[in-house]
Amino acid sequence: MTTPSEKVLKILSSLLDMDWIAYHSSLKADIEWCIYVIKEQKIYQTNIQADKEELIEYVNWAVNEQLEVAEQEIPIKIDTYMNIPLYEKYGSEIESLLADSHKWDFDIFNFEIVTENQSLQIMTNHLLSLYNLYQILSFDNKKFMSFINEIQNGYHKDNFYHNATHAADVVQSFYYMLNTCQAIDICKLNDFDIGVCIISAAIHDYDHPGVNNIFLINTYHSLAIMYNDKSVLENFHVASAFKVLYEENNNFIEGVQKEDSKRFRMKCIGLVLATDFARHFTDLGKFQLRFSNCGVTDEEDRLLVMEMMMHASDIGNPSRPWKFCYEWANKVMNEFFAQGDKEREMGLTISNLCDRHSVIIPKAQIGFIELFIEPTFNILEIVLPNVNENVKYAIENKEHWKETMDNNNAN
Ligand SMILES: [Zn+2]
Repeated sequence: MTTPSEKVLKILSSLLDMDWIAYHSSLKADIEWCIYVIKEQKIYQTNIQADKEELIEYVNWAVNEQLEVAEQEIPIKIDTYMNIPLYEKYGSEIESLLADSHKWDFDIFNFEIVTENQSLQIMTNHLLSLYNLYQILSFDNKKFMSFINEIQNGYHKDNFYHNATHAADVVQSFYYMLNTCQAIDICKLNDFDIGVCIISAAIHDYDHPGVNNIFLINTYHSLAIMYNDKSVLENFHVASAFKVLYEENNNFIEGVQKEDSKRFRMKCIGLVLATDFARHFTDLGKFQLRFSNCGVTDEEDRLLVMEMMMHASDIGNPSRPWKFCYEWANKVMNEFFAQGDKEREMGLTISNLCDRHSVIIPKAQIGFIELFIEPTFNILEIVLPNVNENVKYAIENKEHWKETMDNNNAN
């Protein structure tokens, strides 16, 4: 037997589960208040302020019933997500930008401005909510928000390239591949895999010092010593991020089953280590050999594709529409040049692409596209045909760089 009030409660509760409600804190609070009123059977209750005691007596006399004096505090659960003050200010703008987050021409720079430099936190949380992963995977929302906030703050703001905007960009890029390039359907990725992809992308360059592995190895940096010169930064990013995660307030996977929690850790480590450039050619070879004649069949295949999507998302800027490609290229080259300046100061050999006095940016970018971008996306296309869009942009961008170079030479 179902009563109308039960039905109303069910409808209201299902409203609360909807993603868009999360952006409207006052509406969410109102719905929670409605649920409270119905559950507590207070629908006809009249609230009278305490300072009008003479009235209470009068009303009590009239209805012969004790009325509550002051408006009762209603326990409303407000999670950290709702405490992001930005939603109060820019909720609808953020919401409409996020509605385009599956697109390859998503403007991460504008998103960073609108979110007042909280793009990583907001993008990541949006995707976990969108796929309903808090509920399905038993991720604790409050602890996740604390975790991702610490991760976001741990990215160095003064890095030209390896900062939180790059991390948010990689998260968005991964989502484009999962969704628009249909990786979820084609590879039959489960909810757990989706969670791993989103979180690995978010942490993959955590606490990046703005110099590369070669610099750390050549200067006998403590990180290079710690990780024996092997995937130094990648090991450091993932190890440090897990250190943050295992802090009491941040451990959002605490409620996950022990075996799943181990699997989660193992896969995240795999994905972050796959961002090491030193693996580029071997990984491409492995991928081509595996998928040239057959599709994705098992868990191992899925991990291979996830790792390649991670690598492609990480380096994919030159395959974005020209205005983004251009902006990212300047950022990455500035970071390289800053490393070159340091090397010059320290009397070290200046690393490839790091000498601001000799490197020609358009030429370097064309080389990067031909050597890394085209092969990566051509190979990924074997499994995900839609990444063909990236290849098209990469070819177009090479032409733009050639024009830029010709114009520079003409002046
Ligand atoms: Zn990166």
